[in-house]
Amino acid sequence: MFRRQQPFRIASRCARLALLGVLSLLACIVAASSDLPSLGENSAFNIERETRLGRSVYDRLLDSGLVETDPLLDRYINDLGYRLLAGIDNRAREYRFFIVRDDSVNAFALPGGFIGVNRGLIGYAQTQHQLASVMAHEIAHVELTHGMDMLDKASTVNTGALMTLLAGLLLSSVDSQVGSAVAFGGAAGAQQTMVNFTRENEYEADRVGIQLMSDANFDTNGMVEFFSIMTQLSGSSELGDIEYLRTHPLGSNRVAEATARVHNHPGGGDQVENYPLFKDYLLYVSSDHLPQRGSDYLRALALMKSGNHPQADRMLEKLYRENDENIWYCVAYAENLEQMRRIEDAEQVYRRLLKIFPGDYILSMRLLSLLNRSGRYQQALQIGRRLEIDYPESQRVYFELSSIYGSLNQPVPKMMAEAEFHQLTGNPRQSIRLYDQVIASDQADPTTVSIAREKRLLLLE
Ligand SMILES: [Zn+2]
Repeated sequence: MFRRQQPFRIASRCARLALLGVLSLLACIVAASSDLPSLGENSAFNIERETRLGRSVYDRLLDSGLVETDPLLDRYINDLGYRLLAGIDNRAREYRFFIVRDDSVNAFALPGGFIGVNRGLIGYAQTQHQLASVMAHEIAHVELTHGMDMLDKASTVNTGALMTLLAGLLLSSVDSQVGSAVAFGGAAGAQQTMVNFTRENEYEADRVGIQLMSDANFDTNGMVEFFSIMTQLSGSSELGDIEYLRTHPLGSNRVAEATARVHNHPGGGDQVENYPLFKDYLLYVSSDHLPQRGSDYLRALALMKSGNHPQADRMLEKLYRENDENIWYCVAYAENLEQMRRIEDAEQVYRRLLKIFPGDYILSMRLLSLLNRSGRYQQALQIGRRLEIDYPESQRVYFELSSIYGSLNQPVPKMMAEAEFHQLTGNPRQSIRLYDQVIASDQADPTTVSIAREKRLLLLE
């Protein structure tokens, strides 16, 4: 059956330390090299190889539940990242930005443009510009091929094997305490050696990062501000080692150079007001106990989480009425309404906002799930079939469609949807098995059978 993402758990402090070690090792691999910029090496072959390496690690992170998959959060971090990419001419990579379910302060880039930001780091970035500065710096490491240069220099190591090893270390750190202690020792040792080589790369990534921020009209002061926050943190004992500082050493020269550069590239700095909502919602999604303080939105989310739905409703309704085109308020309000069993009211909230943002993926998916959960399968199906056309790469759409067809007692379409789902989750064998069943089924009409045959053939190629 379908695999659900497992919630992220850290078994112990020991496992946690190991995880940090490995993540920073990945970051180092990307950071370490003393080459000059090599932007010219973006041949199709190189990009393909990079993407394969990066994806192999990313997929393992995803499978192990380390990647935050909430659609609102995922879209936010990718919108932010893609805004930064706007300044790159003839961009060769499809970037993927993601939040890592880990509270340590770190960010890293994998080859091919897979850029992870730990939620611990997001917690300390006070403005969107500060977070953007970290992401811009990581994008620069990728565009300057720092990591690949470093991997290629380590000529005794097969890079593919190295990436597999790193992914394996990451996984072992989540599951096994014994294995992870070993992994940490190894990672920490390697890391010490690599960090010594990174300084030039760090300057370079700052320079390119500031340019990217400026081109995308972010406030470039965000970089210097974030340096200052990190410097303050490194002086406080409560956090111990700051992972981000170990992988991105922050000497006074680096700060001075970035400060000077920021003055030459001021950037527009329009503050995007949803950043605080993004941070509050990230807290809501990732922690069991929310503080009963902070913004009205965060307090309302805390009430919702603690099961005090009527009081949450009063606060969320007010926020929603005052900001009735804001998806963050809308989603929280509707979610709380559903938990109060006010299904039709929740539906109205989604439908009203969908009139403003027709076909919006997140709103449509939420409405579809609501209808499916409340037994209105035909209406859910109508939305699902439209989403299938607009978002053919969405696993969630096929997951819901399969469930809807199951409830409607339509086994053939259910199998077809399940087959698509398995293909998208990287399990083609399961898809082929399902297509075989469709082809053999006496309930399948000729058109469906020929579609199943075609898709099966494509998978076998
Ligand atoms: Zn760096």
